[in-house]
Amino acid sequence: MFNVYEFFNKISSLKPGIRLDAGQPDISVDKRIIEEAVGSLRRGETSYTKTPGLDELREKIAEVEGVGKDDIIVGNGSKILIASQILRAKRVGIISPHWQAYESIAREFGKDVKIFKTSFEDGWEPEMERLDVDLLVLNYPNNPTGKILPKDKLREILEMAEEEKVKVLSDEIYSDIAFKPFTPARELYDNVVTVKGFSKLFAMTGFRLGYAIAQREEINAMRRFLEATTTCVPVFVQRAGVKALEIREEVKKRVVKIYKERVRLASRILRDFKFYEPDGAFYLFVKTEVDGLSFAERLLERGVSVFPGVAFGGYRNFIRISLVDPRLGEGLRIIREVKECA
Ligand code: PLP
Repeated sequence: MFNVYEFFNKISSLKPGIRLDAGQPDISVDKRIIEEAVGSLRRGETSYTKTPGLDELREKIAEVEGVGKDDIIVGNGSKILIASQILRAKRVGIISPHWQAYESIAREFGKDVKIFKTSFEDGWEPEMERLDVDLLVLNYPNNPTGKILPKDKLREILEMAEEEKVKVLSDEIYSDIAFKPFTPARELYDNVVTVKGFSKLFAMTGFRLGYAIAQREEINAMRRFLEATTTCVPVFVQRAGVKALEIREEVKKRVVKIYKERVRLASRILRDFKFYEPDGAFYLFVKTEVDGLSFAERLLERGVSVFPGVAFGGYRNFIRISLVDPRLGEGLRIIREVKECA
């Protein structure tokens, strides 16, 4: 498996001027969120708290998501909640291209991994005859393609999961950055653990705050996992989360508009490349005539970083461009030049 962290470390040591590689938004965290975190610390909120999360935060999440407070657990970033689910499975199904962490976690803990490949030619839509796993990971809007599955396709997959009694882990961390209607998987199937977080819409990556929505038994299993490992999310981080959700609609409007404009800019500058405009999130998964890794390395020499497609399930002729640098236009023009020189 291609080691994305090694490549990330190489990028970081070369310090390119334009970073279009990681999923780290360049939009700053709203000041009101920071002030809330600082205020909480000043008030002396520095102790452990109960594992599932503060009532105020879970109530706010419940209100936003239209579920009950007891169907929610808060965790130290969504990744740890994803890991807690993968740990409980034996055979994990992943639709590819995919965020590498699902596969790394599964392999790290000795799970069987079944990859369902999709292709650019088929519009990144999965065709599965049988799942034959006990946990299927869905991630829409998708990292790296930006795809949102049409509702009928999603229903078809979830019906298959129901028939085979497969649990679904739906990573919907990008669903608040959607340019098209999005249906949460839990609306179509009961046996779904939904995972979301504050890292993308609110750019709160370093706060390490995420949450899961699930049935009671799954919430209890995640609680036991967090009790045994991280104990709780720091109170000041949770207070920041409450504030973020209070201003969510305003932030969402602003952030979605920014990414829409960036997608438009990228589509214009990269019109000679093959890719689908994303339905959501802030990535472009772009086809390259040459090997994506050598393309990414050539770009690095020109001071622009992207991730090679090999990092997302072995898609050698692709690169992922993350639309997260204020010098995006300049970076995209360099990408176009490098293609022309190929
Ligand atoms: N899920 C996907 C698909 C991601 O791309 C990322 C981060 O890049 C995460 C989850 C991790 O989110 P968190 O910061 O909440 O752990």
